[in-house]
Amino acid sequence: SPRVGVLALQGDVREHLHVLADLGADARPVRRASELAEVDGLVLPGGESSVIDKLSRAFDLRDPIRAAIADGMPVLGTCAGLILLADRLDGAIEGQLTFGGLDVRVRRNAFGSQAQSFETDLDVPALGDPPVHAVFIRAPVVTEVGPDATPLASLPDGRVVAVEQNNLLGLSFHPESTGETRFHARFLHRVRNRAGVSAPSF
Ligand code: GLN
Repeated sequence: SPRVGVLALQGDVREHLHVLADLGADARPVRRASELAEVDGLVLPGGESSVIDKLSRAFDLRDPIRAAIADGMPVLGTCAGLILLADRLDGAIEGQLTFGGLDVRVRRNAFGSQAQSFETDLDVPALGDPPVHAVFIRAPVVTEVGPDATPLASLPDGRVVAVEQNNLLGLSFHPESTGETRFHARFLHRVRNRAGVSAPSF
């Protein structure tokens, strides 16, 4: 079974570990570079992106994660995880960095105070039926999709809330907390394909 990690510095790590284990993956928390080196895919969870950014630097994980992304490791980011994957970020706190990799611009906390959290059904053509029941919690949106990235889902007003680029998948919402497993399955499919064909990268 594919070995995958969930970046476990802050956020809803446990929910992701459960979904991945239910799908048959060998899923572990990743807190050190040595643990990152043992997995073939990584989930960046929901939480607080500025805290995860700071801790990733404190734990000497920032550069290894950036190198893994550049090397083509499959990564699934949800909410704060999408923010961390964005090449361009609006609404960052001072000094906040992202890992980057997705050719998109993302706005943090994009929904006003009346609707900081809401749920809706999203049509995701890449997944087919049924629609995705999506939970948004102080969620980001994708405000620009560059030529290298592909939108996967939008709200009825056109705002993009799911994007993909090669092995990277970024979502504004939280499939890990609603029993929605298709995005994780898509991620694991990428991990299996890559682990099967590529030589060890050390
Ligand atoms: N607002 C959070 C951030 O900026 C993201 C919220 C979430 O992950 N649910 O990181």
